[in-house]
Amino acid sequence: MKAFDSTQLYFNRAADQIDLSENIRRLLVTPKREVQVQVAIERDNGEIATYIGYRVQHDDSRGPMKGGLRFHPDVDLDEVRSLAALMTWKTAVVNIPYGGAKGGIAIDPSRVSERELERITRKFIDGIHDVIGPDTDIPAPDMGTNDRVMAWIANQYGKYHGFSPAVVTGKPVEMHGLPGREEATGRGVGTITLKTLGRLGRKPSATRVAIQGFGNVGSHTAKFLDDAECRVVAVSDVSGAYYNPAGLNMTEVLRHSLAHRGSLVGYQDAERLTNEQLLELDVEVLIPAALGGVLRKENAAKVQAPIIIEAANAPVYPDADEILDARGTVLVPDILANAGGVTASYFEWVQNRQHYQWGMNRVRQELDRVMTESFERVWQVSVERKVTLRTAAYILGIGRVGRATILGGIS
Ligand code: NAD
Repeated sequence: MKAFDSTQLYFNRAADQIDLSENIRRLLVTPKREVQVQVAIERDNGEIATYIGYRVQHDDSRGPMKGGLRFHPDVDLDEVRSLAALMTWKTAVVNIPYGGAKGGIAIDPSRVSERELERITRKFIDGIHDVIGPDTDIPAPDMGTNDRVMAWIANQYGKYHGFSPAVVTGKPVEMHGLPGREEATGRGVGTITLKTLGRLGRKPSATRVAIQGFGNVGSHTAKFLDDAECRVVAVSDVSGAYYNPAGLNMTEVLRHSLAHRGSLVGYQDAERLTNEQLLELDVEVLIPAALGGVLRKENAAKVQAPIIIEAANAPVYPDADEILDARGTVLVPDILANAGGVTASYFEWVQNRQHYQWGMNRVRQELDRVMTESFERVWQVSVERKVTLRTAAYILGIGRVGRATILGGIS
């Protein structure tokens, strides 16, 4: 199944619950605009390299469109389209005044130099600068991009439109970024995990956690849950998984990763497993925080964790979702679990528009409040309607977007 089809399937499941008409369904799922641009640069060795860049703007009925920019070899239009739709539902679930968008370039950033990456980013912005902006569409970091890339975007956009830091979020703090933006997605995932444990009557200290992916989201989630006394027994990156049933020494793992440009390769105090094996570990909580589509029909039945928190976008395919649901697995969906990132991005955008720097305490306080309130609301809908947390989150998101669309008028 293609990525967009699976987002659509989740959408339709919730739309059935609220008896949404066919016409409104079609209106809500059809992206407003899809842009594909050529990104050609001269490499350091003088060769010409050509990449394809995408930006899909899904919906703006609740505000300017918002969504990350992904640099990864698997990026294609279908994936970007699916992720853009997820952003629309996500911003609605946490009730921030945004629509949804997503972008990406099919490239492996580890195979180009930093200067080449900068040229690629700037060239991409040359291609899309007239369709993004602080009041239209605001990019942010995602897989393979970071605060450095966001700084280049702000700078390149500024060459066309003048000083506009609010055109992009996830910038370095020295360049109008938000203190706490980097940790925000992981902090939000951690907060949602603790709320879920609380609702299920489980103690953090009696909870073993496995996390796939140790980038921005995975590493901050691991640190947050370790601080909260959960036992993080496994983490992984593209090189494989690192497992210690007694609990990993998170201070040491983080130190190793920092010293090796984010890589876990060479970490000693753990057993080596594959990424597939990590997904099947005997733990209480499994947190996929890397790629989409890692839980499929073929491996879903092997998952032992009774709780799954979707830190990555779309890590569970619908056929796996059905298997897990039938087994009683409690699954917190991506559009709630990882919404801490876009929520902090919203704070950054507000800060930029007010030209007023927020402090870390305020960011954390407001982020925790939004994540907690959103979790409680989704949980409530799930109990009232006797539906999964995923369907409950979609019902909430689709309802808000649908009402805004109808109130704004179609013609
Ligand atoms: P990142 O690039 O910082 O880290 C990605 C991690 O995944 C790295 O540890 C990498 O080694 C690992 N990885 C890559 N390929 C892998 C593979 N085949 N198997 C196992 N691990 C692999 O990315 P990130 O920002 O942490 O994003 C991770 C996920 O979270 C993505 O799905 C992204 O869409 C989602 N997300 C990110 C944010 C954010 O603020 N960064 C917000 C919401 C959702």
